[in-house]
Amino acid sequence: MSLTEKIDHIAIAVSDIAEASRFFVDVLGLELSEPEDVPEQKTRVAFIQVGEVRVELVQPMSEDSPVARFIEKRGQGIHHIAYATSDILGALDAMKAKGVPLIDERPRSGAHDAKIAFVHPKGASGVLTELCEQTRG
Ligand code: ZN
Repeated sequence: MSLTEKIDHIAIAVSDIAEASRFFVDVLGLELSEPEDVPEQKTRVAFIQVGEVRVELVQPMSEDSPVARFIEKRGQGIHHIAYATSDILGALDAMKAKGVPLIDERPRSGAHDAKIAFVHPKGASGVLTELCEQTRG
């Protein structure tokens, strides 16, 4: 049994959601969701639905946000890939059992009331990886 059956979203770290959204809205003709603050991560996020997958634009809201440090070091770009799971606790347990390095041993709250947890990039080919359990439809 796989721990996930689809990608929930691909997140892009951006300095400014309004500016970054021009490509998605004006060029690709997609719709941007209402931006939402995620105080735990000191970020503001907005989503763009593309078929079954969403693109998440993540903008840091303070200089000590992890995403601010990411942009400072590496510039804007792909920040993480999030896999959907229907059982985040079970997925975390399974990963722990396999020795996968986790940033979050327990789920925390993300945008849209989702339960999320990050897997360390060194366990996932250098890509920051998120598990994401949607709690609203
Ligand atoms: Zn995410």
